Amino acid sequence: MKIEPKIRGFICTTAHPAGCRQNVKNQIDYVKRQEKTDGPQRVLVIGCSTGYGLASRIACAFSCGAGTLGVMFEKPASGTRTATAGWYNTAAFEEFAAADGLYAETINGDAFSAEIKRQTVERIRAGMGQVDCIIYSLAAPRRTLADGTTVSSVLKTTGGVFTNKTIDLKTGAVLEATVPAATEQEIADTVKVMGGEDWMDWIRTLKEAGVLADHVVTAAYSYIGPELTHPIYLNGSIGRAKQDLYETSRKISENFPGVKAYLSVNKALVTQSSAAIPVVPLYISLLYRVMKEKGLHEGCIEQMYRLCHDRLFQETPPADAEGRIRLDDWEMRPDVQAEVARRWAEICTENVNELADIDGYWQDFYQMFGFRLDGVDYSADADPAAAIPSMAR
Ligand code: NAD
Repeated sequence: MKIEPKIRGFICTTAHPAGCRQNVKNQIDYVKRQEKTDGPQRVLVIGCSTGYGLASRIACAFSCGAGTLGVMFEKPASGTRTATAGWYNTAAFEEFAAADGLYAETINGDAFSAEIKRQTVERIRAGMGQVDCIIYSLAAPRRTLADGTTVSSVLKTTGGVFTNKTIDLKTGAVLEATVPAATEQEIADTVKVMGGEDWMDWIRTLKEAGVLADHVVTAAYSYIGPELTHPIYLNGSIGRAKQDLYETSRKISENFPGVKAYLSVNKALVTQSSAAIPVVPLYISLLYRVMKEKGLHEGCIEQMYRLCHDRLFQETPPADAEGRIRLDDWEMRPDVQAEVARRWAEICTENVNELADIDGYWQDFYQMFGFRLDGVDYSADADPAAAIPSMAR
């Protein structure tokens, strides 16, 4: 069948297998063109199928030569319904890893659950023995707790109502978005979902099972951003969860000798998760334009290669005063932010295409789902059923 993009709100409900494969291949090719990294050899990536987690897996595998076990929450194709992009990405990743003789296996299920943690331990024992690096890159809208109740994360402020510019990506109109304040319960729930508790549970489970190597590095990802996004991000409900994630990095390092835990503050990029945040997509389109003009633009793979090669696997990773790894260093450069702020003040529906990189935003958006990639024949019939090798065995 021919597979076309079907956009609903801020997601695309279809994905193209050949396009996702190309997208993964492009990222692998990028890493292969860079200098190799002396890094871990047995890596667990939690949230391995899209965005920063997929790029981390690619960087560890193809720059460090690591075997990887991935955990993800994706859907296979059913009938004429395509699989999710993360499913196709993972099928392609395993294919390319095998071609280079790299161990790669994947577990599909709810990473928050005890059952998936148990399966992961078993799979590590059988495949790699132990792990020496754990990347925690989950971005989830909800979490089912051990007692069966489900809590959801919200993208709201923690102060008062916040109004700022946003873009209606469908029409290209610049509008005002009003973001309500989260209740105390909503903040607590967001911290449950996106905070550090589950990261800590993973480390404890792996330690108790004896599958952590003597020296382990673990990282989770965060965002800070400029003042204009602070009410919705840094000081919003998600920011509270990220603060908790940061505190968890300190606790993990303190409580588990031999484990070094880091929070890496990454650049704002188009991913399935960031597209859902009000105000942020307009900021990202402005940022892309400014950073491209200055020759500073990076995507997930450039960021994650830098994380592997220049930061995380150094004896003492370069970090800020609070011990956080900063990959948002170029995004936060004063000249970049001054230009973004200048344009932000001026931007409106009439000049949005001049001041911001709306085309670049859409390009990344479509490419996340395997569309609009060079080298893919979209007029050819595509088979939506793609098997992930390690799950088909
Ligand atoms: P993403 O949506 O592309 O990836 C999320 C991953 O989590 C996917 O692999 C998905 O399968 C997996 N996942 C979700 N729920 C799961 C569950 N219950 N069980 C198992 N796997 C599950 O998101 P992303 O933007 O790459 O975000 C990853 C991390 O990076 C998040 O912590 C996010 O806050 C952070 N971050 C993102 C940005 C950005 O601009 N996108 C910037 C800085 C930091």
